[in-house]
Amino acid sequence: MEKNIIYKDVELKNFNSWKVGGKAEQFLICDDKEKLASYIKTKKIKLPITYLGLGSNLLIRDGGVKGAVVVMHGGLNTINKDRELIYVEAGVSCSKLSKFAAKEGLKNSAFFAGIPGTVGGSLAMNSGCYGSETWDYVEKVLMIDLNGDQFIRNKSDFKINYRDLKKPIDDESFLAAWFNFPEGNKKDAENKIKDLLTHRKNSQPLNWPTAGSTFRNPKNNFAAKLIEDCGLKGYQIGGAQVSEKHANFIINLGNATALDIENIIIYIQKVVFKQKKIQLLREIKIIGEAIDH
Ligand SMILES: Cc1cc2nc3c(=O)[nH]c(=O)nc-3n(C[C@H](O)[C@H](O)[C@H](O)COP(=O)(O)OP(=O)(O)OC[C@H]3O[C@@H](n4cnc5c(N)ncnc54)[C@H](O)[C@@H]3O)c2cc1C
Repeated sequence: MEKNIIYKDVELKNFNSWKVGGKAEQFLICDDKEKLASYIKTKKIKLPITYLGLGSNLLIRDGGVKGAVVVMHGGLNTINKDRELIYVEAGVSCSKLSKFAAKEGLKNSAFFAGIPGTVGGSLAMNSGCYGSETWDYVEKVLMIDLNGDQFIRNKSDFKINYRDLKKPIDDESFLAAWFNFPEGNKKDAENKIKDLLTHRKNSQPLNWPTAGSTFRNPKNNFAAKLIEDCGLKGYQIGGAQVSEKHANFIINLGNATALDIENIIIYIQKVVFKQKKIQLLREIKIIGEAIDH
């Protein structure tokens, strides 16, 4: 698909890691911040605007998404060293950021290596693993609002929580960020990336369409353990299944609808609450319109 062209009625299945969902009313892969701003200012793209990275933390309902879906991955892809900071645009993959930082001899970026999303998605979700999270290393960000205006915000403008971020104004989105990783050793940083990727391969069902951890870990507990203890590993609704390898992952066996996945999410919440008296909160985001099947 060509960049910076506004398409209509684009199937979103190919733009999310569960491989489900309906169509976007308008669709744009953007590699030019100024062009995007001008499309917004001249109202060529419709509100609401949904920004998408790699769709790896997202359930898109079968009825599709109203308004415009703007895909950052494959679009805003610049990454460079800006004095002691790394400047990285929202569409750059987390894995690229991780490797770039290691190559520059900076440490602590390894956790990003196995997160199969973009920098934009990770800023929005405060993604993390192995004891680190995105906003630990953010200095400032470049935002765009619904008027098409671009401006810089500092880290202190945001309320940062576990797998959650509160923006000062909800409708602002991320175009880029400046990361501040500490000085380290290139070889050590690259070895750390290799180790963490091996660990991930052994513990997660990476061969199936999935959005990773479905639920946040409750305080002092693990969602995967709670789900497993309730006997839900392997439980299936339609084409959606609780992974046998990692109980907090829901996989698409090939023919799942978004509704199958949403139903299995609700079922897990009900069973865990009934048996453990713990309300599991979703980590993944759900967007779009439901349809009757
Ligand atoms: C196999 C697997 C393993 C995973 N492991 C981890 C893990 O270890 N730790 C972890 O935290 N997550 C993990 N995830 C989840 C996911 O990869 C992360 O949350 C990732 O950061 C999401 O990035 P994305 O680009 O795919 O975001 P998307 O799924 O495209 O979007 C997620 C949310 O962010 C919003 N968004 C995206 N880009 C922007 C933007 N530029 N501006 C504003 N909002 C935006 C979207 O609208 C949506 O609400 C995993 C997923 C999978 C499939």
